Amino acid sequence: MTTIKDFHRRSIQDKEGFWGNEAKRIDWHKPFSKVLEYSKPPFAKWFVGGETNLCHNAVDRHLAERGEQKALVWISTEVDKEESYTYRQLHAEVQRVAAMMVSLGVGKGDRVIIYMPNTPEAVFAILACARIGAVHSVVFGGFAAASLAARIDDAKPALMVTSDGGSRMGKPVLYKALVDESIKLSQFPPKSVLVFRRGLDANMPVVAGRDVDWVELAGKHKGAQVPCAWLESNEPSYILYTSGTTGKPKGVQRDVGGHAVAMAASMEYIYCGGPGETIFTTSDIGWAVGHSYIIYAPLIAGMTSIIYEGVPIRPDPGVWWKIVQDHKVKVMFSAPTAIRVLKKSDISWLKKYDLSSLKHLFLAGEPLDEPTHAWISEGLGKPVIDHYWQTETGWPVLTAMPGVEQTPIKFGSPSFPAYGYDLKLLRESDSSEAGADEKAVVVIEPPLPPGCMSTLWNDDARFVKTYFSTIPGRVLYTTFDWGIRDKDGYYFILGRTDDVINVAGHRLGTREIEEAVNMHPGIAECAVVGVADQLKGQMPMAFAVVKDPAQVASPEGRMKLEGEIMKTVDKQLGAIGRPSRVFFVALLPKTRSGKVLRRSISALAEGRDPGDLTTIEDPASLEQIKTALKGASKGTP
Ligand code: ATP
Ligand code: MG
Repeated sequence: MTTIKDFHRRSIQDKEGFWGNEAKRIDWHKPFSKVLEYSKPPFAKWFVGGETNLCHNAVDRHLAERGEQKALVWISTEVDKEESYTYRQLHAEVQRVAAMMVSLGVGKGDRVIIYMPNTPEAVFAILACARIGAVHSVVFGGFAAASLAARIDDAKPALMVTSDGGSRMGKPVLYKALVDESIKLSQFPPKSVLVFRRGLDANMPVVAGRDVDWVELAGKHKGAQVPCAWLESNEPSYILYTSGTTGKPKGVQRDVGGHAVAMAASMEYIYCGGPGETIFTTSDIGWAVGHSYIIYAPLIAGMTSIIYEGVPIRPDPGVWWKIVQDHKVKVMFSAPTAIRVLKKSDISWLKKYDLSSLKHLFLAGEPLDEPTHAWISEGLGKPVIDHYWQTETGWPVLTAMPGVEQTPIKFGSPSFPAYGYDLKLLRESDSSEAGADEKAVVVIEPPLPPGCMSTLWNDDARFVKTYFSTIPGRVLYTTFDWGIRDKDGYYFILGRTDDVINVAGHRLGTREIEEAVNMHPGIAECAVVGVADQLKGQMPMAFAVVKDPAQVASPEGRMKLEGEIMKTVDKQLGAIGRPSRVFFVALLPKTRSGKVLRRSISALAEGRDPGDLTTIEDPASLEQIKTALKGASKGTP
């Protein structure tokens, strides 16, 4: 066995040798002539001249050996349904949808916007695009019409695919109605809209001549055979917009060959998932995690992938662990935000089912605070791996790699740079390399490894300007995250570079303060933001969600808990990090991917406009912040 250190070093020093070898994991219709072409930095081209197809590698390739194995298991606790598809069945379904798309005039290079809930049909549609070489752009269901319209105008789709509706906490969420509204707002509407009816919107509007009923069209394409289109490795496979936590979302474009190779390699080295084994990724297909680890990586690896429609606590907080037991899940992937939801329930829920099949739980998307990391690790009795990545990278940048070497986990740390990433921590002051325990900006020396974004859709200039032009005089990829490496070489992400606050000349990452607040046993989660202060420049202000709301029902209770939290912060971080106030709310404003909208909170606290809120999960959360702040100005906590 090699060590992570050696493995990483080899991946950086001999990029072509390393990735040329990894490329053997997938089928190539035509072999590539060059592993890496990097003549026009920062644009990297991987496996140049090679021809392949993502759908072939995810589906067709497995038919001979595992045609009767389950490829996809759909579990919906929203509509109480479970369906599964073998690789052979998936192959048939995908070909049928591919034929349907072709009949609607979709061809190679055309964009298809998929706006659907977590359902098998969404997966068929995604793979059908890959099969015919159309570029899919999955948009997370539930975005406001204006957000969807902006994406339509950016991608200019030939087709949109949607459902009548989805369901959340048992309530229908209308998809098709919103598609209609967004099309009205857009300048480049698609010719056709393919609609899969689930019976969730009895009054679903239909636009004659444009809307096409999925089931009706599918009836005409039973048993269809549609060959895979062979694409040059660097042609676009999909566009995916970032979460939009920090402003206008960016249309991340991914390639074909590099993406397939990165997916296959990560499944072995990072996730330790192999053919015939089961993975359960709780994400939505609309996010990068869903693309990579519900669909592409598991299927390319020949695994059984569980796609889940529902929340972690319905019908009860044991629902996910029952799935792990019943389906013998080996690899599980979720987000800190979900674990914090579970943390509000009793820990005994984690111990109720037989989890002997589970090897690891992976978490990504937001900083995983130490108390939550410890809570879930102890509750499950399994290694819980925090790992850090971005929509832009498509797979982990910082992570433990148990498939390469078993390394001890440090709570609160996403461990080490993954192979392929030449990661650096640079001082903000002069861009020199930071030493141990020194806060710095996380950057990556390009070329970015296979699987990362190739550019921003239709906007090479913005790609270069946004990501590679922030460090003067150098071409480096900026993550816009703030990090630190301890003496043992473990990395910690301290939040986004624009989340750093300046208290009387001291620079503090809001995450550090959040971490300290979370140390109080009564707190489920919290957000800390910087608020302008005449004396100190900025002061941290905390908004916390308590595990037991009864604790903060009275003004006395709130005052007492606020005092305790301030003491906890003093003890953990020193008085410099102590929040000026701690407010208690029932929920935090988050994006639909579970990321806290710290910028909007701090704007409200400073009496400014909270900015673009189209990605917010629940607008009621902002009202809570406003109410809390209003109470404060009247003098009651
Ligand atoms: P936008 O770029 O449009 O503002 P976004 O950055 O929220 O949106 P994503 O690509 O979904 O969109 O999120 C990536 C970011 O999430 C990272 O840059 C980092 O800030 C945060 N993140 C992800 N995983 C972790 C982790 N394990 N620890 C800390 N932060 C994480
Ligand atoms: Mg980002």
